[in-house]
Amino acid sequence: VVILLFGPPGSGKGTQSRLLSAKFGIPAISTGDMLRAEIEAGTSLGDTAESFLARGDLVTDELVNQMLVKRLEQPDCDGGFLLDGYPRTVQQAAFLDHYVTEKGLPTPIVVHLDVPTDVLIRRTSSRLQCSKCHRIYNILHKRPNQSGICDADGAPLVARNDDGEEVVRGRLNGYRKLTGPVLAHYTGGNYYPVDGNRSTEEVFREIQTLLEPAVAKSANRNSPR
Ligand SMILES: [Zn+2]
Repeated sequence: VVILLFGPPGSGKGTQSRLLSAKFGIPAISTGDMLRAEIEAGTSLGDTAESFLARGDLVTDELVNQMLVKRLEQPDCDGGFLLDGYPRTVQQAAFLDHYVTEKGLPTPIVVHLDVPTDVLIRRTSSRLQCSKCHRIYNILHKRPNQSGICDADGAPLVARNDDGEEVVRGRLNGYRKLTGPVLAHYTGGNYYPVDGNRSTEEVFREIQTLLEPAVAKSANRNSPR
């Protein structure tokens, strides 16, 4: 099974990525980790990436694509893989389409974990305040029992730091602008929007359910060999 996982910062993508990786026994490959690993290992791809970053430039699609191919050729990807943070551009998506066809891989299943902006802001700004009793929470070290909800009275928590909110909002706008065309590339195919504004368990259960037919299909395809 080939899974492409999309989701804005604060959507719980990292957690779902780990759960899916464990459940299906496939590696979760994040572009950021891949980039860091190449740089640390001092490979020629890593050196090239480092020189881009040192100049303050973005790493080119071509370089990211090369790193991805190298990573996907490793034996742990034989049973499938999950990509987190790739493709980031329409060119990368087109490259992946071509690669998947060429290698006879199963059609990627695109899972888009989405969460309303206000909820993301509530989740990602560290200081939260109850909209009713004004009790203060901190998602880093004084979490409410239920995400985004006051323990005392069940009222919604709101971000307390306006600067934090501005920063988060900017980051989310950037994310949506960048990802919109990539998601549009997949719409109409194996594209599944998933409501990420629920508990980790509920979200995981839904993703598992929608992956089941594809997993069964790829198991059938692999069994004769
Ligand atoms: Zn309260």
